[in-house]
Amino acid sequence: MLEEKLKIARLKKGTVIDHIDAGYALTIMSLTGLDESPNLITIGVNVSSKKYQRKDIIKIEGVFLNKKQMQQISILSPNANISLIEEYKVIEKKKVNLPEVIKKLILCRNKTCISNSNEPIETEFMVLEEKPLKIQCVYCNRIYKLDEIVFSSKGKIEKKIKQTIQL
Ligand SMILES: [Zn+2]
Repeated sequence: MLEEKLKIARLKKGTVIDHIDAGYALTIMSLTGLDESPNLITIGVNVSSKKYQRKDIIKIEGVFLNKKQMQQISILSPNANISLIEEYKVIEKKKVNLPEVIKKLILCRNKTCISNSNEPIETEFMVLEEKPLKIQCVYCNRIYKLDEIVFSSKGKIEKKIKQTIQL
């Protein structure tokens, strides 16, 4: 039923983020800053899906994602795929791509880590496992799981990932 309605709300131009892990749509909205967009946004949470049982989906009118936003999505939902829409048609489909090394986007929570010192060092994490996510700080070797990650973000300083939807 919901899927039916989402199909009706077709985009003329914009982006569809599909196959988001169920429950992560709102975290993605907040982390990527899409929650501050004045554009029309349709969010489906826990939509039934043949491939992954339940998934989330986000449709944004008139917005194409930048590289940083794509990377942020890949950390939260490595199976997500992105469709670009023009004149109601998919002009490009891409999978998000979790890099082997994540730079800058995540903060190390170890206070004694050199990335937290006054040195001009940007954070760097090796991806040990993609799903469930496991990353390791290249400086202090501390290992983090997805729900332990603290994202760095401009204006808001720290955004701790939280699954906002709990049913
Ligand atoms: Zn560290």
